[in-house]
Amino acid sequence: MQIDLQTLWYLTVGTLLVSASLLLWERQAHPGRARVIGVLATALFAFVLGSMLAMNRSHFPVALGMGATNILMMFGYLLVLNASAALDGHRYFWSSVAALSFLAIVWAIAGTHFPAAFWNHVSSIPIALTCGLTAWILLRSPTIQQLRSRPIAVSISAVHTVFYLGRAFIAPVLVQQYGQDIISIVGKATMYEAVLYSVAMPMSFLMIIREEEKLQLLRMSQTDQLTGLANRHAFFEQADRILRERHGDPVSLLAFDLDHFKAINDRHGHPTGDKVLQLFAETAREEAGPDALIARLGGEEFAALLPRCDHSQALSRGSAIASRFAKAAARAEGLKTRATVSIGLAAPDCHDLAGMLASADGALYRAKALGRNRVETTGPNELLLQPQADPLHRQLRVVATEAS
Ligand code: GH3
Ligand code: MG
Ligand code: MG
Repeated sequence: MQIDLQTLWYLTVGTLLVSASLLLWERQAHPGRARVIGVLATALFAFVLGSMLAMNRSHFPVALGMGATNILMMFGYLLVLNASAALDGHRYFWSSVAALSFLAIVWAIAGTHFPAAFWNHVSSIPIALTCGLTAWILLRSPTIQQLRSRPIAVSISAVHTVFYLGRAFIAPVLVQQYGQDIISIVGKATMYEAVLYSVAMPMSFLMIIREEEKLQLLRMSQTDQLTGLANRHAFFEQADRILRERHGDPVSLLAFDLDHFKAINDRHGHPTGDKVLQLFAETAREEAGPDALIARLGGEEFAALLPRCDHSQALSRGSAIASRFAKAAARAEGLKTRATVSIGLAAPDCHDLAGMLASADGALYRAKALGRNRVETTGPNELLLQPQADPLHRQLRVVATEAS
């Protein structure tokens, strides 16, 4: 199949215009990333202008034809670099202006003397450098570190870099060996690659942005908005996984219920109740251990699944949470209310989640009945639904700090 260079230029302009228009359309759907998408769309329009100028460069003097084309293209690549940096909230405005000014001076001084060498080879060096830097920024970006589409975006800029390094350093050697015909082959290959780049590059950014938003939505759907803890849905999902992967390690479960919480709401108002819930979440996070799965199951009820934590360790962690929460609520500035929590610890012989929750619930019931602000547990063979009626029940720990 034979495709002439002019057709490839037209094709590039067409794909660039389609990609830029689709980006602008998508921009409305992603307000959080409007800047990144806007900068990228501007980059594609700069490539369009550059390509149109390149197609007509012979009608202009060198500095206005080849020089201005190269600077417009570089403007586009610098915008792509800025769009990558904008994913992490960075800007390279002044360094981009400096790079473009430097390039303009180089074209004005040296480019006009060696237009063919500059157009065919030298002008590829700043493009390769900019694309290499873009690939590096995408590779190192903490924002997109976890995303599946990151390697695709990195590869697209990296391949473009390698291609332009080839144009700058390998093409001149080939021209020397095989003659000027190589220039036209390299030109066609460049335009063919440009068509692919003008579609793949913006697509990879949209993949990143969509994936990022999907993860944000997933995170939101798993998080309790008020406390920032896992919600009920996430708890059951993650707890199941933890129990499946325990490999014989002990796992404990604590169930929490704030004491007389309705009275706190009634007396001090809902906003104060909300602050108490947040204070409890903060306390539980600090005391439950780094790998604990803590969740708000609903209202003023919470649960913590403690991997690699045996019964007595869990008991002391629960105790520490109750004691610290009572103290923190007493000290909290502007809270104007005391608050405590009752805690039930699942019996050590429970292995599945349902059994652990039922056991912890029974123990919690007992903690309430015994006066609240304490941790209780049930023994292995105790009757869970009526802990009060069971003569074998044992109170393992009464939290010493009485907050009210
Ligand atoms: P007990 O000591 O026996 O646990 O009594 P309690 O008052 O804590 O329990 P009860 O179940 O009677 O009250 C729970 C209250 O929690 C009722 C509800 O209005 C309140 N609540 C549920 N969700 C929220 C919330 O998101 N914010 C606030 N401020 N209150 C909430
Ligand atoms: Mg309750
Ligand atoms: Mg309660």
